Amino acid sequence: MNNVEARGYILTFRCVNCGKHEVFANHPSESVLQEDQIRARIYQVNCNSCGWRGDACGISAIHISRATKLKARAVGQGN
Ligand SMILES: [Zn+2]
Repeated sequence: MNNVEARGYILTFRCVNCGKHEVFANHPSESVLQEDQIRARIYQVNCNSCGWRGDACGISAIHISRATKLKARAVGQGN
């Protein structure tokens, strides 16, 4: 019951509105994916800097990193 569904990939984009690299999307996945598979998708994103929202294609991501504990802190204690 307590499966940690916190694995996935974090994509970083450059904001088309303010130009900062403050746009992030995450793609939950329990398995290791090829970067091609991640880049082939469209992500709904919003900018942490200016608040711009929109769709971003994975191809335009400037950085992709793998996350293994996205929610570890929130889930770890409690219950
Ligand atoms: Zn922005």
